[in-house]
Amino acid sequence: MTPAIYLEKGREKSLKRRHPWVFSRGIKKIEGKPSLGETADVFAHDGTWLAKAAYSPHSQIRARIWSFENQEIDLDFFVQRIQQAQVLRQDIIERDGLTGYRLIAAESDGLPGITVDKYQDYLVCQLLSAGAEYQKDTLTRALLKVFPDHYIYERSDVAVRKKEGLSERIGVLHGEEPPESVVIEENGIKISVNIKAGHKTGFYLDQRDSRQQAIKYCKDKEVLNCFSYTGGFGLYALKGEAKRVINADVSQPALDMAKHNAEINQFDISKKRAVFLNADVFKLLREYRDQGTKFDVVIMDPPKFAESKAQLNGACRGYKDINMLAMQILRTGGTLLTYSCSGLMDQVLFQKIIADAAVDAGRQVKFVERFEQAADHPTDTAYPEGFYLKGFACKVI
Ligand code: SAH
Repeated sequence: MTPAIYLEKGREKSLKRRHPWVFSRGIKKIEGKPSLGETADVFAHDGTWLAKAAYSPHSQIRARIWSFENQEIDLDFFVQRIQQAQVLRQDIIERDGLTGYRLIAAESDGLPGITVDKYQDYLVCQLLSAGAEYQKDTLTRALLKVFPDHYIYERSDVAVRKKEGLSERIGVLHGEEPPESVVIEENGIKISVNIKAGHKTGFYLDQRDSRQQAIKYCKDKEVLNCFSYTGGFGLYALKGEAKRVINADVSQPALDMAKHNAEINQFDISKKRAVFLNADVFKLLREYRDQGTKFDVVIMDPPKFAESKAQLNGACRGYKDINMLAMQILRTGGTLLTYSCSGLMDQVLFQKIIADAAVDAGRQVKFVERFEQAADHPTDTAYPEGFYLKGFACKVI
C-alpha cells in the first residue's frame, strides 16, 4: 500500500493553490512508514486526497509534490514532464540559437529538487531532494527516452543535500564522462563549459538574456566585468565592440576559460583589449576608487550573498558596498549593470539597496532598465520562489 501523509486542519490551503511543499509542522500523522524519498499520498485532515508527494524525513520540507493528479509516479510521468519542459522552451531555443539551456528547473517545471541543464548532448543533473534521489534511475531512463543518444552526468555536489539526508555525488549516470570542455552556443556566442568541475552544472545559463541586453551599452566603452566567471558578460561586451574589457574573478580556472572563450569566438583581444584579472572584487574596486581609475560600464554579477534569512542583513551590506564602489568609479553618463541572484532578496529590496548605494556614493542615479532570469528558468504561478534573479541597468549622471 502507498504510504499516506495526513495534514493538520487548514494545512491543505497552500496545496489547493498548487504550492508544491508540505512542511513538517503541517503534518498530523504518517501511515505506512515511507522510506527516504518514497512516494506517498497526501490527504487533508478530513481524508480528502490531495496529491502524490516524495517523502523527505530529514528536511523541514517534509514532502514535495510530484503531482496533484492521482497518477503513478513512474517512467511515463517523468517522460511527460520532460517533454512538457522541452516544449515550453522551444521558442527561445530557436530564437536564441541555443545548444545549452536549462531543461528542467525543479519546482518550476513540476519536478521538485531536480535540475537538468543541457549542454549539447550532455544532460547534467543536480538532484537536491530525497525524492529526486529516489527517482534517479527512472529519471535517467526518462531523459534517454526523450533525448536518445545523450550522455547523462550527475553534479549533485551541493551542501543542501545534507538537509535531505543525502551525501554529495559527482559522476556518470549514462554514457561517457564529459570532456574537459563542451562548447555551447547562445546568441551566436560560443562558450566552453567544464561540466565536471565548473560551478553548479558548469555555466550560469540564467543570465543569458541580461548578457544579451548588456551589448548595447558597450560600444566603444571601457568595461569592468566584476565576478566574470568564464567570461559571460565580457564576451557579449566584446561582441558589442567594447573598447576594452577587464574581467575580474578570484577563480583562475574560470579566468583561463574566459580567455579561451574569447579566443574561440575570434574576438580581437590583442593590445590588452581584454584583460583577465585574478582579483578580489571588493579590494579591486577600492583600489580603482583610490587611484581614480574610471570606467564607462561596470557589470556587477556577484555570487549569491544570502543563502538563508539569517544572512540577509549581511548580504544587504555586501550588495550596497560593491554597488556604491561601482558608482564611484563610473564616469558621468556611465552605466551600472547590477544583479542579485539571492532569492531571499526581492526586487523591491534590491532596488532600495541600489538607492542607498547611490546616496553613499554621492551620485545621482537613474534606473533605466530591469532584468530577470532567462525564460528557460520559468516561474510557476503557484511557486513564486522560482523567481530569484533580478537586475537593473542604471545610469550615473
Ligand atoms: N557573471 C557570470 C557569473 C558569475 S558567478 C556569468 O555571466 O557567467 C560568480 C563569480 O564570482 C564566480 O566565478 C566566483 O569565482 C566569483 N567570485 C566570488 N567571490 C569573489 C570575489 N570576492 N572577488 C572576485 N570574484 C569572486
